[in-house]
Amino acid sequence: MNASFLDRCRALLGGAWVLDSEADMAPYLRDWRGRFTGRALAVLRPGSVEEVAGLVRLCAEARVPIVPQGGNTGLVLGSVPDGQGSAVVLSLARLNQIRVIDALNRTMTVDAGCILQQVQEAAAAQDCLFPLSLAAEGSCTIGGNLSTNAGGTAVLRYGNARELCLGLEVVTAQGEIWHGLRGLRKDNTGYDLRDLFIGAEGTLGIITGAVLKLYPKPKASITALVALPSPTQAQRLLALMQDRCGASLTGFELMSAYCLALVAKHFPSLPRPFSEPHEQYVLLELSSTESAQHAVGLLEDAVGAAVNEGIATDAAVASTVAQSQGLWQLREHIPLAQAADGKNIKHDISLPVSSIAAFIEHTEPLLQQAFPGCQLVCFGHLGDGNLHFNVAPPPGVANEAFLLHQEAVNRVVHDAVHAFCGSISAEHGIGALKRDELARYKSPVELGMMRAIKAALDPLGIMNPGKILG
Ligand code: FAD
Repeated sequence: MNASFLDRCRALLGGAWVLDSEADMAPYLRDWRGRFTGRALAVLRPGSVEEVAGLVRLCAEARVPIVPQGGNTGLVLGSVPDGQGSAVVLSLARLNQIRVIDALNRTMTVDAGCILQQVQEAAAAQDCLFPLSLAAEGSCTIGGNLSTNAGGTAVLRYGNARELCLGLEVVTAQGEIWHGLRGLRKDNTGYDLRDLFIGAEGTLGIITGAVLKLYPKPKASITALVALPSPTQAQRLLALMQDRCGASLTGFELMSAYCLALVAKHFPSLPRPFSEPHEQYVLLELSSTESAQHAVGLLEDAVGAAVNEGIATDAAVASTVAQSQGLWQLREHIPLAQAADGKNIKHDISLPVSSIAAFIEHTEPLLQQAFPGCQLVCFGHLGDGNLHFNVAPPPGVANEAFLLHQEAVNRVVHDAVHAFCGSISAEHGIGALKRDELARYKSPVELGMMRAIKAALDPLGIMNPGKILG
């Protein structure tokens, strides 16, 4: 069966686009963090929507599971196959054309395999902004961004990938093409199929194209680093900034003292804006469609008020683009500094913004009680209620020995998230990594509806099986 299945794939795509040697398949089978390497029958690289549909029909006939893959930068083992070797990886990388830009409608229609940075640059060339921005933007794809409903650094102002998409083109699990590329901001014509496929991590169908929203390009973006005594004061700062700056506030990132100490340790050449260490820091970004002067004025007034009201203890406002980039580098180097320091147990959680400080105050002592001396690497998009709440080993404890406690650490953190009405996955998705956690915390009613949708759209169960749902 397999030989003839692959022959039929070759007949459809041309032999060069069906990879089945171990060496050729290797980069598609290993996850971005290098924690897991799966096995596959082949990697298929279609060059058109019709070829994607044809491949899905072949897979359906032969009951071959399909793992859709964009840039393979996902962090929850969603884009790589399991160890059985019976699935194919279907790479969207060759579907990489910007199809059309409608400047008046402020939309751009793109192939799903377009790299995020390519889309940002195409928007900028029209003096527009496509605001999705994340550290993997040089290699992740729009199809992957939508399939994981990616967040990033501008969610506070523009929303996550779901809110940036007006229409989709999808190849269904039966190999049909749904032409849903509508550039409409209002469309109340029944069930919202677009929103079903967004965030589905390739378990319901394959996104092949999307209509994306564009925004006016800000004239200026200004950044400041604010020092504070506690997460409670960070919450107060957020409220103050939102009251004073409204939609101009585009970024609000929390970083603990420990995070910046890690960055200073591993990247000593990066800026150190304060001579004294502080408990917490917030990186603020303000954008203005008027002028740099307007943004600077707003930011200086708001930060000044925060200091006067005793919310902030110190602040450094960037006065040049280079200084702004330097401050952002502090934030962006936290994951790299963590990796350089060793392994840790990661959590990508969200909470109501109003509960963030209480959650940290509640959960950190529980972790210390259970794992004395463990180090909390806590940072994230506080403006969206999203924390990366990572737990590193106590000094002197080997990484591998600590990682044996992963299940117990997850239980402390995720139980607390659940108790505070939060989510165990804010932006990375579920994939295979958090599938069992999802089953533990979602209600039977919610899981039942999700299973019903999966069974209705993918009755043969060939679309990325084992991801999200067991
Ligand atoms: P892949 O990794 O290839 O796939 C991800 C999932 O989507 C898989 O389940 C896959 O099967 C499915 N999929 C991919 N393409 C399609 C398609 N066309 N149709 C159907 N299903 C598809 N995420 C955030 O939200 N915010 C961040 O700030 C952030 N920062 C990151 C920083 C780094 C350095 C890295 C490595 C990752 C980061 N991520 C972040 C994770 C993020 O989810 C991915 O980078 C990105 O959204 C996935 O895009 P991708 O093209 O690489 O998808």
